[in-house]
Amino acid sequence: MSTTEPTVFELIVARTIPAEIVFENERLIAFRDIAPKAPLHLLVVPKSSEYTNVAALAEGDPYLLAEIVTTAAELAAEHSNGEYRLIFNSGESAGQTVFHVHAHVLSGSSHGSGTFDESSLGFE
Ligand code: AMP
Repeated sequence: MSTTEPTVFELIVARTIPAEIVFENERLIAFRDIAPKAPLHLLVVPKSSEYTNVAALAEGDPYLLAEIVTTAAELAAEHSNGEYRLIFNSGESAGQTVFHVHAHVLSGSSHGSGTFDESSLGFE
């Protein structure tokens, strides 16, 4: 039996803690970020915590990474104007706080005007 603590995202998958879930299938879940940095800020997350970052996921399961990307596009179209920024923080100094790979999907404001709060996404 594993003694590893479940990640916060595994607790959301298990419905142990609440989240505003907008999409779910066999392998992925997507929900609103608890501290949104844009009018639309979703997290698209594999249900399994097997991969801690996007490079590990790309190497181990590239189809799942592709599914994250297409799901992000579909959700940005459904919940915003279809234009979005996709961010994978990888490593503590890059702003990663949850070591269970996830994509941030940010949409709904002008990239050109810099209105996304990038400092809180790890880029200070
Ligand atoms: P990162 O800093 O890239 O690892 O992203 C982790 C993200 O998870 C942050 O943007 C947090 O706001 C978000 N987060 C943490 N706990 C929750 C939660 N219970 N529900 C929704 N989002 C969360």
